[in-house]
Amino acid sequence: MLLVMKNMVVSVHYELKVEKDGELVTADKSDPSQPLVYIQGSGMLLPDFETNLAGKVVGDTVQFKVSAEKGYGVRNDQDIVSVPLDSFKDKDGNVDTNVIKVGNVLPMMDDQGHQFQGIVNEVTDDTVVMDFNHPMAGKELNFSVTVVDVRPATAEELEHGHVHGPGGHHH
Ligand code: ZN
Repeated sequence: MLLVMKNMVVSVHYELKVEKDGELVTADKSDPSQPLVYIQGSGMLLPDFETNLAGKVVGDTVQFKVSAEKGYGVRNDQDIVSVPLDSFKDKDGNVDTNVIKVGNVLPMMDDQGHQFQGIVNEVTDDTVVMDFNHPMAGKELNFSVTVVDVRPATAEELEHGHVHGPGGHHH
């Protein structure tokens, strides 16, 4: 029986829950027909994820928590920014109030062309307060993970640093 260890291709089903309004709610979950496939030790996933899976075999289910610090990071007040409302106006000087409204997630781009997302926290007459913290920042992550397949990675997969075939790259 193969153990989850470095350089194994591991297929798992997972469910991620985080606290919301005092309850644990599902934030992310693998598709039942498509497990998450990764190479153990490749750093694709959170280090704590790999650590908790190490030594497990097909059929094992592990439940573990990852602190916010080791997950998506803590929330940072500096990532809450007031943006002039003007920068959201179209050429006619109008603001699309269906888009610029509290709670909406907006795709943004920095001056180097990197895309990221911000959530609208507040809209005033002349500014939009945007929160650029990762939506999962500051949250403890509660994982439940079931191992469904373990196989050795091929030399080619290790060279490329990703999985080939189902759940991975096709090229
Ligand atoms: Zn490849």
